[in-house]
Amino acid sequence: HADVAMYSAKQAGRNNFQFFVPEMNQRAMVRLQMESALRRAIERGEMILHYQPQMELSNGHISGCEALVRWQDPVKGMIPPMDFIPLAEESGLILPLGDWVMREACLQQARWAAEGIHLSMAINISALQFQQADFVEKVARIISETGANPREIELEITESALLASTDELVAQLERVRALGVTLALDDFGTGYSCLAYLKRLPIERLKIDRSFVKDLPGDAEDAAIASATLSMARDLGMDVVAEGVENQAQCDYLIERRCRSIQGYFISKPLSADALTAWLRARGLAPLPPAAD
Ligand code: C2E
Ligand code: MG
Ligand code: MG
Ligand code: MG
Repeated sequence: HADVAMYSAKQAGRNNFQFFVPEMNQRAMVRLQMESALRRAIERGEMILHYQPQMELSNGHISGCEALVRWQDPVKGMIPPMDFIPLAEESGLILPLGDWVMREACLQQARWAAEGIHLSMAINISALQFQQADFVEKVARIISETGANPREIELEITESALLASTDELVAQLERVRALGVTLALDDFGTGYSCLAYLKRLPIERLKIDRSFVKDLPGDAEDAAIASATLSMARDLGMDVVAEGVENQAQCDYLIERRCRSIQGYFISKPLSADALTAWLRARGLAPLPPAAD
């Protein structure tokens, strides 16, 4: 790579290649190293899922959770998704990673169900995954191989997966729905939101992005957006989940406007499967394990 960079810098007639080349080179190297580290990490099983509970505001019921991936590096420790998901998306590694996430989340849904813990499982799906020709077949296969209940599986897609609002896209979404799986639109309001597609697309839930929740109820613009989203969703027959709820005041605002569910540190941060099981049991929300004798 050094040779290539040097050659093109010289060829371009630059006389500053001593400065230019090493810097370009280093960025490319770091990227390549990250990419192969990520590839190895997926192969070696260094990825884990944490689960963040979602609460229904009408009755305090914990109805589901969202699976959130983390990279547990033996040296660097826990790496958050924002530090590797973008790279995974650019490099295509999101395809094997996304397969692993879906399989693991479905397995966990089935494990919990076997213990009498019934939680819907929300799984983040990147646009690239969703656009694969065999995406629906893959979801069907993973659900049947893991014994997950499709009625308890929810796929979170973002507006970037919906950019081409074509008949093909509608058909793809309907095939997913035909599996019994729920579709949710993640980070609502942060992308190129096009309200027309909400009418047209078979999506049942909206997740209001936490950037609009953060400054509720004090911030007038955020309040207007949250409030408008909630009433529009209601009129369209969609459920709303507010993300990133951290305090009582935000919660009260959302209750008043009849938001269906919330997710956020106010309820719990994302937890390992065992920690979430213990958390549910401590609150009397999950059956206790059979006593050992
Ligand atoms: P997201 O899907 O919008 O997930 C919610 C993020 O908000 C999570 O960050 C969660 O930990 C964080 N969060 C939840 N409650 C609160 C709160 O009360 N306050 C604050 N400040 N933050 C809160 P996380 O786990 O770091 O994930 C970040 C993003 O990475 C996710 O955003 C999602 O877009 C992506 N991601 C995570 N796991 C996966 C995955 O398996 N596949 C794909 N494609 N993307 C993933
Ligand atoms: Mg999400
Ligand atoms: Mg989100
Ligand atoms: Mg997201």
